[in-house]
Amino acid sequence: MSEVGFIGLGTMGGPMARNVLKKGHRLTVYDVNPKAVAALVADGAIAAASPKAVAQASEVVITMLPDAPDVEQAARGAEGILAGLKPGSIFLEMSTIDPDTSRKLAREVRAQGSDMVDSPVGKTAEHAVSGTLTLMVGGDARAVARVRPILDCMGTDFFHCGEIGAGHAMKCVNNLLATTLVAVNSEILAAGMKAGLTLDVMTGVMQKTMAWNNQLAIGFPARPLRGDFEAGFMLKLAHKDCRLAMTMIRNMGLTAPVGAATLAVCQEGLDAGYATKDVGVLLKLREDLAGLKVRLATKP
Ligand code: NAD
Repeated sequence: MSEVGFIGLGTMGGPMARNVLKKGHRLTVYDVNPKAVAALVADGAIAAASPKAVAQASEVVITMLPDAPDVEQAARGAEGILAGLKPGSIFLEMSTIDPDTSRKLAREVRAQGSDMVDSPVGKTAEHAVSGTLTLMVGGDARAVARVRPILDCMGTDFFHCGEIGAGHAMKCVNNLLATTLVAVNSEILAAGMKAGLTLDVMTGVMQKTMAWNNQLAIGFPARPLRGDFEAGFMLKLAHKDCRLAMTMIRNMGLTAPVGAATLAVCQEGLDAGYATKDVGVLLKLREDLAGLKVRLATKP
């Protein structure tokens, strides 16, 4: 049993924290939303008054917050994690943020005699509940081994991607590619149908060529091709992840023109009012412009 602290008890963090608690760890929690804290306390967690108080009570301090500024806010200041972190403890950052922020925080954490591991997660809120998330982990091997039993409470697909920041870098490139595939599949299917091709003909041919991809094989038939645009993975989160990836790419002095186009397409979806719809709503954007619907044939 370990003393675990958890900061950020939202859609993902709430069920993740609950899974840590279920495996018998002592859990201290904090969130700016008192209702989120009360729900975990009802399940046996201990409420703390600040991120600093969470850190003072914990060997492993987890953050699962919306964005990098939120993580910085929870980490710094008189009431922040860094002010309470015990020497020898580990700061486990699991939000989707940029790798530069985690590397910068890790330098400060290490200067205090503690260590940091990043482990953003893949998959969805349902997987957070079932404890079957994909874990993209970055950090020193010894620190990673120490947090492994805690990570195993929350996820089943474990990938040690490299040193600190490698988990966040992996999440950035993965989600930029996955979202780019949604954007390009959407425009191709709508354009093909406008050109007189059926969905069956297009997918039949594409399965035999280098055009085939997992979004066409799995993602599209699950929701958008059924006309289901409810999240799923919200467009606003896909936009955020593409923005983080583009920042990472720019910070390395590289360019990513296709990634930039994907970010612009996501912005088009946000402007159309689809922020909380599934990322597959990018198909609806192209359908509306083409004046058609690309749908799986419904069986009689
Ligand atoms: P969410 O908005 O549901 O939850 C965030 C929680 O953090 C909220 O309870 C909020 O009150 C709390 N919070 C915000 N600022 C805080 C602060 N300074 N101190 C303490 N608490 C604070 O977000 P979520 O969907 O749980 O996502 C969390 C992270 O996981 C994000 O980085 C997101 O990109 C990533 N992610 C989400 C999904 C998904 O499907 N929702 C999937 C994979 C990864």
